Amino acid sequence: RESFLKSPGAGRMGVPTVPLSDLYSYAIAYIERRDGKVHLRTSVEGAIVEPNSVVLQSGGAAERFDFVVLAVPHNALGKLLPSQNGSGGASAQLQAQVARLESSPITGIHLWFDREITELPHAVLLDRTIQWMFQKSRLQPQRQGAEQAGSYVELVVSSSKSLVAMGRKEIVDLALSELAEFFPVVREAKLLKATVVKEVHATYSALPGSDSYRPESRTPWPRIFLAGDWTATGWPATMEGAVRSGYGAAQALAESNGRSDKFLVSDLPAEGLMRLFGT
Ligand SMILES: Cc1cc2nc3c(=O)[nH]c(=O)nc-3n(C[C@H](O)[C@H](O)[C@H](O)COP(=O)(O)OP(=O)(O)OC[C@H]3O[C@@H](n4cnc5c(N)ncnc54)[C@H](O)[C@@H]3O)c2cc1C
Repeated sequence: RESFLKSPGAGRMGVPTVPLSDLYSYAIAYIERRDGKVHLRTSVEGAIVEPNSVVLQSGGAAERFDFVVLAVPHNALGKLLPSQNGSGGASAQLQAQVARLESSPITGIHLWFDREITELPHAVLLDRTIQWMFQKSRLQPQRQGAEQAGSYVELVVSSSKSLVAMGRKEIVDLALSELAEFFPVVREAKLLKATVVKEVHATYSALPGSDSYRPESRTPWPRIFLAGDWTATGWPATMEGAVRSGYGAAQALAESNGRSDKFLVSDLPAEGLMRLFGT
C-alpha cells in the first residue's frame, strides 16, 4: 500500500550507480567519525548477558558492550541468542518463533555481451522467469573500462524457486532465450561470459500469516535489540524494510535509556484518491 498505492512518488525506484560496497563505506565513515569501530569479516559466535552489559564472543576473544543490536539474517539469529545466566528458556521461545519464517531465494544472472543489446539502463520484464534487467555497463560505467566494448547485463529473479534445482547452463540458456524476446539483438550478440549467483536464503518469505512470527526490536533482554528486514517492520524484505528496522532498533534503544529521540522518518502523505481512505 505504502509504495504502490499511496502516491505516485512513493513508488519511485532508486537504482544505485555505484557498487553497494561504496554506499556502505559512508556508513563506516559516519561511525568512525564518532569514535566507533567497525570490524569487517568478524563473525560473532555468541552473546552472554551480564547485569550491566552484554559480552559478545568472536574468534576466541570476548568484548563487553552496553547494548547490542543483533542485525543478522533470521536464520543466523539462533546461535547468537544468549543461553547462559537463566536465558535458555527465553532464547528457545524466540528461536522457535523466528524458525517459523521461511526463506525465499533470489538468483542473479550476469551476462557479458560483445555489444549493447539495448539502450535502456534498466527494464522490468513481465510474464517471464527473468524479472529485472539492469544494464550495469550503463548504470555503473566505472565497472567496465571506457576502452572495453560490449555490455554487462544483470538479470534478477526474485522468489526464484524454479531455478534453485537447475544447473548453470540451463539457467543461462533460459535467460538468453527469454531476453531475446524483449531485445531481439540478443540472438546475434556473442555471449562472452556468464555467471549465475543463487542466493537460496536471500530473504525471508512473506507468506500469508508470516507477520505474526516477525519479532519486534525489543527482546526479553533489555540490553539486546533486533534489526533486519525480517523483523516486524510491516514491510516486505527490502532495503527500505531493513533501514526501517534499524531506525526502529535505534528508537527502542533510545527509549530504554529514557530518551525520546525519533528516528523513523514519517511516511509520505497520501495523494489523490488515497486521501479518501484516511491512510
Ligand atoms: C540478490 C539479492 C537482490 C536483492 N535486490 C533487492 C532490491 O533490488 N531492492 C531491495 O529493496 N532489496 C533487495 N534485496 C533484499 C535486500 O538486500 C535485503 O532486504 C536487505 O539487505 C536486508 O538487510 P538486513 O540488514 O536485514 O540483512 P543483511 O543485508 O542480510 O545483513 C545481515 C548481515 O549480517 C551478517 N552476519 C550474519 N551472521 C553474522 C554473525 N554471526 N556475526 C556477524 N555478522 C553476521 C551478514 O554477513 C550480513 O552482512 C535483494 C537481496 C538479494 C540477496
